[in-house]
Amino acid sequence: MIRPQDWCGRCLAVATRHGKARALRAPLRRVLGVRLCTPRDLDTDALGTFTGEIARTQPPLRTAAAKARLALTTAPGALAVLASEASFGPDPVLGYVPLHQEWLVCVPASAPQVVIAVGLATHTAQFAHRPLAEDETPSEDFLHSAGFPAHALILRAQTDPPRFWKALRSRAALDAALAQARNCAVPLRLETDMRAHLNPTRMVQLARLGVRMAQRLASACPRCGGAGFGLEELLLGLPCAVCDAPTAQVGSERHTCPWCAHTVIHTRTGQADPAHCPICNP
Ligand SMILES: [Zn+2]
Ligand SMILES: [Zn+2]
Repeated sequence: MIRPQDWCGRCLAVATRHGKARALRAPLRRVLGVRLCTPRDLDTDALGTFTGEIARTQPPLRTAAAKARLALTTAPGALAVLASEASFGPDPVLGYVPLHQEWLVCVPASAPQVVIAVGLATHTAQFAHRPLAEDETPSEDFLHSAGFPAHALILRAQTDPPRFWKALRSRAALDAALAQARNCAVPLRLETDMRAHLNPTRMVQLARLGVRMAQRLASACPRCGGAGFGLEELLLGLPCAVCDAPTAQVGSERHTCPWCAHTVIHTRTGQADPAHCPICNP
């Protein structure tokens, strides 16, 4: 078992080829005194790429855990491994708004079945895509809305299999890619490159996850003393202010220990707006 005081001075490996350690280092070092290292020779793309060249076969949380376990073999001496996995797409409820969901997991070397996870869902995402007609030049408006050139772009030619020009970070690189892609004489698509080191907005969210993970790894289970006691699930059912019926607002939090499964339910105070009540506002 790892206890919160065990992190100090030890190495925590980050399973990444995309510079994520840069976003995670500061909070983890400050809170835990742990050193971050990046294993060499790690091919996380084997578990799926976000451009879909290699399909992901599992949901993001499980992919992140698999990535961390893969990295354990390449990081001897590390107390544990961190890995993250994201999904990007239109918000399933709001439709047109981009939604960035990301999980960061910590898998201890001594107990690879244990997964300590923190997650976030945010609308602050630099995620854009648009089809391009054969001789169309992308408009300045689109490039601006995609955060280009601070955020890199990917050009995709819909050949079979598709061809990609990735990490485009200048107008010259984009124009050169467009010139080559047009030779394929197939529909083209321009999209944001979501890899962490090419997407500063994603790096900001990773830093937030780093803070959450640091706090969680510093938190001891009240029963066994293991590191990582914390929020596991938000439970709905905050009572309606008018009729006291359970609503779809968050009413309590389930905190658990990744080592012994000890669980504590924290009930939130307050009452829900009757606008969210299935009885007052059916
Ligand atoms: Zn415990
Ligand atoms: Zn009500």
